[in-house]
Amino acid sequence: MEKIVSLCKRRGFIFQASEIYGGLNGVWDYGPLGTELKNNLKQYWWKVIVRDRDDVVGLDGSILTHPAALEASGHVDTFTDPMVDCRTCKARLRADQLAEKNGTKQCPNCGGKDLTEARPFNLMFQTHMGASADPASIAYLRPETAQSIFVQFKNVLDVSRKKLPFGIAQIGKAFRNEINPRNFTFRSREFEQMELEYFCRPEQGMDLLAYWLKERIRFYEEIGINRKRLHILDVPDKDRAFYSKGTFDIEYEFPFGRQELEGVAYRTDYDLQQHIKSSGKTLDYFDEETKERFVPHVVEPSAGVDRTVLALICDAYDEDSAPDEKGKMETRIVMRFNPRMAPIKCAVFPLLKNKEALVAKAREVQALLRSHMNVFYDEGGAIGRRYRRQDEIGTPFGVTIDFETLGEKGEELRDTVTLRDRDSMKQERVAIKDLVETISSKIR
Ligand code: ATP
Repeated sequence: MEKIVSLCKRRGFIFQASEIYGGLNGVWDYGPLGTELKNNLKQYWWKVIVRDRDDVVGLDGSILTHPAALEASGHVDTFTDPMVDCRTCKARLRADQLAEKNGTKQCPNCGGKDLTEARPFNLMFQTHMGASADPASIAYLRPETAQSIFVQFKNVLDVSRKKLPFGIAQIGKAFRNEINPRNFTFRSREFEQMELEYFCRPEQGMDLLAYWLKERIRFYEEIGINRKRLHILDVPDKDRAFYSKGTFDIEYEFPFGRQELEGVAYRTDYDLQQHIKSSGKTLDYFDEETKERFVPHVVEPSAGVDRTVLALICDAYDEDSAPDEKGKMETRIVMRFNPRMAPIKCAVFPLLKNKEALVAKAREVQALLRSHMNVFYDEGGAIGRRYRRQDEIGTPFGVTIDFETLGEKGEELRDTVTLRDRDSMKQERVAIKDLVETISSKIR
């Protein structure tokens, strides 16, 4: 994991938030490459969940949330983790994650055994709206994106005129005051979720749970996560929310252990019923054919953006060997991102930076590719080193403009370039006019 954390900082994927002030625990900033990677992930999720389907529409709800909505959902009373204090080093710890030695729980920081009784700690961030800080002005930063979907259910249904089953999807920030943020970005206090609430008739719930589990596994395969490192946990009755009739956790084998990436849960009609009770409004559905009025049930695939980005990074990290400038084999760090997810799709290199004609042609190729994909232009250093820099950030394709391109080695090679593949390191000669299609077909 250390190698991955260091690469993330060195190459600008992920930085600690407020680093120059000593950092803010459990909060992260995405650098230039991390931002591209994260955007590619969110855009692909939005494409397969919303754009490619007739039965799902989107929502972008607010982060600041009415306390009544989170009282209704149960978050104000029960969204807690059990917390203990270590009396020796004063650390605050999550009671259910403490290691035991000879049957006694221990503080992971100092090894102390003098721990307080566990007490519930609410994970929500509270704030005040407006100038006065009295209890009537309390608002919460949402702990999940799902609740605004339930609260807006009727409005979305009215404007979209969808028939059951249909879904409402959302990508956005969520906040949890985790007691022990850890494992890099895995457990953060500010993170992003990609959630779908898929509403249905009660009798469809269990089948749709199985359907969405399958779809979601396919998604992870499509973004390049190795299927062998994905696991499905059928969450047993005792660990499931009391209203859920079935929940699957999709887990990934991180270097720090097997951990949850996404929960796919059949939540029955619990959330809508709670909001009906608390708001006094009708949040139901009228079936034109059967003339029935009822409260829909819901299946929820709920994924974490940051956890998936971390899984993409861990899954892509690889070391192999490649020849250096003198032909001596050296270790090569290569991020084997699926081209669809790679932050930069293609790097463009003039063979030499002091040959005007090469540079001009390379700039032309960059301009040609730019409107189709994220490209990067690099003229500094030996070509081998430039390739290596791109391998380390997972750029799947490299295009080199050389003297052949200028027609100096025969007319038949004029306006052709070498196209290098990151994984095989093989190079092929491609006409500039065919570049866009050759690369685009592999990054869609
Ligand atoms: P965990 O048990 O790991 O705390 P959870 O079961 O509480 O997670 P959910 O409430 O089901 O998580 O949230 C759905 C998804 O949101 C999770 O699968 C995860 O990807 C993401 N998520 C939840 N908490 C965090 C966090 N603190 N940091 C990053 N992502 C998170």
